[in-house]
Amino acid sequence: MKILVINAGSSSLKYQLIDMDGERVIAKGVCERVGEPVGNFELKIGDEKFTKQVEMKNHTEAFLVMKEALTEGEHAVLHDLSEIAAVGHRIVQGGALFKESTLVTEKVIEGIESLIDLAPLHNKAHIQGIRASLEVFGPDVPEVVVFDNAFHSTMPPEAYLFGVPYEYYEKYAVRRYGFHGTSHRYVSGECARLMGKPLEEIKLITCHLGNGSSITAIKDGKVIDTSMGLTPLDGFIMGTRSGGVDPSVITFLQEKEGWTPAETSEILNKKSGVFGLSGGMSDDRDIQNAAAAGDARADLTRHIQWYQIRKFIGAYIAAMQGVDAIVFTGGIGENSQPLRENICDSFAYLGLTWDRKVNETAIRGKGGELSLPDSKIKVYIIPTNEELMIARDTKAIVEAL
Ligand code: AMP
Repeated sequence: MKILVINAGSSSLKYQLIDMDGERVIAKGVCERVGEPVGNFELKIGDEKFTKQVEMKNHTEAFLVMKEALTEGEHAVLHDLSEIAAVGHRIVQGGALFKESTLVTEKVIEGIESLIDLAPLHNKAHIQGIRASLEVFGPDVPEVVVFDNAFHSTMPPEAYLFGVPYEYYEKYAVRRYGFHGTSHRYVSGECARLMGKPLEEIKLITCHLGNGSSITAIKDGKVIDTSMGLTPLDGFIMGTRSGGVDPSVITFLQEKEGWTPAETSEILNKKSGVFGLSGGMSDDRDIQNAAAAGDARADLTRHIQWYQIRKFIGAYIAAMQGVDAIVFTGGIGENSQPLRENICDSFAYLGLTWDRKVNETAIRGKGGELSLPDSKIKVYIIPTNEELMIARDTKAIVEAL
């Protein structure tokens, strides 16, 4: 069974075609600058990459460009589009409406639409992606939606409610939803497999550390807390996002600087975190190189990041009253040796021991067990695979039809 996984952004469309017999990626790529006069199209097959510039006025045109590349010309990987058995879409915000992946119907689209307020940029774009896909594939190809926060829907109210008047929860559904759920779900399943234990019997802390980062506490297979909140801004410092700050900092700066809500959001989302603290660097590699070369602010920034991550892990150990394993994933989690070293060292007091050689050799896509056999807490580096998780959900739903 071949499944097409779609991640539609406001001006982009990422795709991955997966053959579920063997869970093999046939092709993947991205349509960028959708809606602009000149767009970029990329197709990757194995290690080969093909690009072209082409105008894609909207998501439907982007789908058509992708369809043509997959089915026609020298790089075609399909004889016909009908070989695609189903399409799986990544949806960022499922609110409290969607607790699991589901088949697309008009009612489901309306549900996703009703949550636009909670994720204006994302959900609007996802709907454009679904509608475009329906237009290109027609009604006979099942389409499935997989929600970024569905995995977090098991959180108890003590974890998801904020300390603001309860009426705002009732009126606007203001609460913690969490994000990266598909990634946390994937790596938690992989971790249980590597440990040879049922997920339902272990306590895990999964650290998805990339441009956006979140940490999740998973007890007996259920998320009990996660660092991102109403939006993906909460938690600890990220590439350009502030993470959690004293709310007074925001109102104080709004008054001093005259920021509107939109400007405030722009600064907290795009100009803060590692970028804002370091003075313009958001990539972990740049921070590490600058710190190693003696840049004091880059060094301070990485220490703030490590300290905040350590605090979340410590809090979640307390929340779960223990932890069996910690997982690192995401671009930084899978690659950053100094970060893993710092975090692992800080839990030595709980009996965590780790292997320097594994830490040095684990790079993106490789993974490995970082803890030593005598460690009281297991530590794994597990490359995440959200697309595969989406494809697996899609396959399961389609097979049950
Ligand atoms: P993601 O959002 O998961 O794709 O992660 C992207 C981030 O991973 C980049 O911005 C970098 O900060 C980080 N990253 C990627 N490669 C490396 C590397 N080799 N060493 C350290 N960090 C890396």
